[in-house]
Amino acid sequence: MSTPTLCIVVPCYNEEETLRVSAAALRHVLQQLLDEKKIADDSYVCFVNDGSKDNTWNIIKELQEETSSYRGISLSRNFGHQGALLSGLFTAKADIYVSIDADLQDDEQKIIDMVHLYHEGCDIVYGCRDNRDTDTWFKRTSAEAFYKIRSYMGCHTIPNHADYRLMSARSVQALKSFPEVNLYLRGIIPMLGFPSGYVYYKRKSRQLGESKYPLRKMVALAWNGVINFSDAPLLLMIWVGVLGMLASISIMAWCIYQWVSGQTLPGWTSTVLIVSAFGSMQFLFTGIIGLYIGKVFRETKHRPLFIVDQDCTMR
Ligand code: UDP
Ligand code: MG
Repeated sequence: MSTPTLCIVVPCYNEEETLRVSAAALRHVLQQLLDEKKIADDSYVCFVNDGSKDNTWNIIKELQEETSSYRGISLSRNFGHQGALLSGLFTAKADIYVSIDADLQDDEQKIIDMVHLYHEGCDIVYGCRDNRDTDTWFKRTSAEAFYKIRSYMGCHTIPNHADYRLMSARSVQALKSFPEVNLYLRGIIPMLGFPSGYVYYKRKSRQLGESKYPLRKMVALAWNGVINFSDAPLLLMIWVGVLGMLASISIMAWCIYQWVSGQTLPGWTSTVLIVSAFGSMQFLFTGIIGLYIGKVFRETKHRPLFIVDQDCTMR
């Protein structure tokens, strides 16, 4: 096997504070792997500018001037973390890809272990967090609950793994055969199969700049992680519907009994209660159906997940 070319894909959205520090750290990793002769000389870091509003793209261009170990892609607007990551994987040419966040909260030294596992035959290596000590209580509890719910619903999840992973060129090629646009990479990658491995690390807290993943984006990603992989909410809806029907039959029986035993029926209160209870249930259920239809609607359009503005990966 000839020495493989490594490409480290780094999605960047308004990362001007952290970019240079992270670039230096990643170059150091490349150097270590080069010294070990585990990767080819033309290995590089590929920064993806995801429509940043700050100086990010200018810094990437400056880094490119310094050395061919730094290359960049600039997207035409902000496509979100998953889109940016995918644009790097699909645009840059290499034999092995490692994706890592620009703030290097994930231990970049583990890239070395990942590449070792690649040489031992793994096509995919998942970076998993040992613990969540550095997370806020909210992020930790919500993440745990989310992974539990996903596994109850029958979705295969790699616990405590975000998007820090190694992928071989053929697994990236396989990923291209998934045309869905409501993307949740963490759910799709385990579906690719191929020999896989794991590395464990302790996630640091963000040193520079602030999180670009507010609660709104986190909820949207988690929602994709459930809805795109499971029809359990639809099934749940049917069960609640059945229970509601049974309840309404009992209420009807009770009404008839009241009527037969000659007691006057209560006024409109009960009627209003029943109507509103079932009305609200219907609203909720129609809403859930609507969400699925919304997803179908978006899938059928086959809109591109990213559009490259400038591609400087070829040297
Ligand atoms: N990111 C991106 N596009 C976005 C939001 C974030 O490319 O719209 C990148 C960001 O620059 C970082 C990574 O995604 O490299 C993860 O973001 P962040 O560190 O802010 O998320 P957190 O670690 O707080 O979940
Ligand atoms: Mg981060």
